[in-house]
Formats: sequence, structure tokens, C-alpha cells
Amino acid sequence: HAKRAGGDKIEPFRPPFRTANTGDSHIEAELKGALMRNEIEMVYQPIIKLDTKTVGGFEALMRWRHPKRGIIPPSTFIPIAEKNGLIIPLGLFALQKSAAELSKWQNALGGVSVFMSVNISSRQLLRHDLINDVRGVLAENSVLPGTLKMELTESLIMENPEHSSQVLAKIKELGAGLSLDDFGTGYSSLSHVMRFPFDTIKIDRTFVSEAEGKGRPAILRSIVSMAHDLGMEVVAEGAETENDALALHQLGCEYAQGFLFGEPMDATQAFKALQQDFPLTR
Ligand code: C2E
Ligand code: MG
Ligand code: MG
Ligand code: MG
Repeated sequence: HAKRAGGDKIEPFRPPFRTANTGDSHIEAELKGALMRNEIEMVYQPIIKLDTKTVGGFEALMRWRHPKRGIIPPSTFIPIAEKNGLIIPLGLFALQKSAAELSKWQNALGGVSVFMSVNISSRQLLRHDLINDVRGVLAENSVLPGTLKMELTESLIMENPEHSSQVLAKIKELGAGLSLDDFGTGYSSLSHVMRFPFDTIKIDRTFVSEAEGKGRPAILRSIVSMAHDLGMEVVAEGAETENDALALHQLGCEYAQGFLFGEPMDATQAFKALQQDFPLTR
């Protein structure tokens, strides 16, 4: 600790201005116009069906292409947008853009049942009429039933389980799918989430990475078998090596997503990847 005795007291360092938040509030101010300036983009990461090694669907992920700072990741701006409410227009944009691409791809490939998973944040589910957004997006874009999926984390739905379960039931009725994101990072067990109508569960990559070591197969095996007992399909996040993919397939995961199979890519590349797996021969 700084010495306090005597006359020469050492003051704690204080920057001349209130710099503590300027980085954030600057970003926040710029984020406000980012949608209008077309700086917000969606990228799509393939989710691979492990038995056929073909694309089963994609997760839509948001990017902010800043004119000076380059690509800003969602971990930087989503929390800000969540706080100030900008997540509502941003989230709607994500839904509309992803649904439009999905519809285009399904039509172009003659009805291949590829899916699209879109991340939903707390404010969208709990303090906004998400049902209305989903209804609108499904009315404007024809997609196969259940193929436009809402991706939600367990901690999000546990913030308000009653309200969540009502909204999720409605969303499911509208013909959207429901995917439980990052499973295993929260504190709830699958028995807690079984009263929500999820059709897919995504196992967080911390359980998947090889670094996890010896305990991995046992934990994974029990999650997978419980999910299957509950009638859900399983996606494993963060498959980075051939070994991961092999182990995940042997454990019974239907799908895997990760850098092994592809990083998030733009819509043109994503459609090319789809066309490779589903060439139009008919
Ligand atoms: P998430 O939903 O769990 O998305 C998966 C994240 O893991 C993505 O990061 C993806 O690029 C990354 N990832 C995929 N495969 C691998 C792998 O093999 N290894 C590793 N180390 N990472 C992998 P990203 O795109 O930076 O997104 C981070 C988070 O930001 C997302 O986590 C999600 O919570 C949030 N997010 C992204 N887009 C949106 C959006 O449109 N709306 C909302 N509300 N949140 C979003
Ligand atoms: Mg996700
Ligand atoms: Mg995830
Ligand atoms: Mg995750």
C-alpha cells in the first residue's frame, strides 16, 4: 500500500477526465447509428450433421463492421445494446436477415430442410413482444416448419421461468424451433429445462474441448442420453479437431459446430457450402 505516514501523502492515481467510461459511451453513441449506416452484418456458421458430414443448418452471428475499428465482435457490443435497448432493433434485424437468407436457400435447393438458429437476448424475451417479431418474420418469409430456430440460454429463461415458458410455447406454436444454447454453463439441470419446449440442445464448448480431459465422455454421455430421452436433438459446440468430431459422433450427438467444420462466413459463402452438399441434380 502507498505510504500514508508523514507529510508526503501519496494520492491514488486519478485520470484528469472521467475516462473510465468514455470508451464505452463512445461505442454506444456510434452503435446507435450503426444499423442505419449498414454497418451491422450477419455471418453464418455451419452446423454439421455428423452421420453424413453435410450441413444441417447454420447459426446466425452478428458482426459490426466499424469504418475505423474494423470488425467489432458481439461480445463487445451486444452487452451495451442489451443495456440501452438497441438490442431490440438489432435483434429484429438478425431475425429478418437470417429468415430471408434461409427462405432463399431452401427455395433455391428445392426444399432442403436446412435450419437457421438465431440468438435471442434477455431483453428481447422478457421485456419486449418477441412473439410479434417472430410472427411477422415468419409471415414475410416462407421457411419449412421448425427450421427457423430461436437460440436461448438457460440463464436467460431462468431469469423468469414462468414468463419464458409462456412465450416459448407461443413461439413454438407459430412454427419456430427452439434451441437451448450453451448448455452446461448455468446451474440448472436438464430436468429443470424439460418443461420448456426445446427441440434442440447445444452443449457448451467447455464440455467439448479436448482440454477438458478425462471426465469429458462421462458428462457428455449423460447429457446426450438425457436430451434424447426428452426428445431433443443434440448439437455440440466448439468441435475443433477430428478427434472431437469422432468422439461426439460416437457419443450420439447428431450435430457439431466448430472451427473444424467452418468459421462464421458471409451469406454467399454459406450458400456455396450448402450447394456443395446439396447439388441440384433433380
Ligand atoms: P454463442 O451463441 O454461444 O455463439 C457461439 C460462439 O462461439 C461464436 O462467437 C462462434 O464464433 C464461436 N465459436 C464457434 N465455433 C468455435 C470453436 O470451434 N472454437 C471457439 N473457441 N469458438 C467457436 P461470436 O460470433 O463471437 O459470438 C459470441 C456470442 O455473442 C454468442 O455466443 C452469442 O451469445 C452472442 N451473439 C452473437 N450474435 C448475436 C445476435 O445476433 N444476437 C444476440 N442476442 N447475441 C448474439
Ligand atoms: Mg448461440
Ligand atoms: Mg452457444
Ligand atoms: Mg457457447
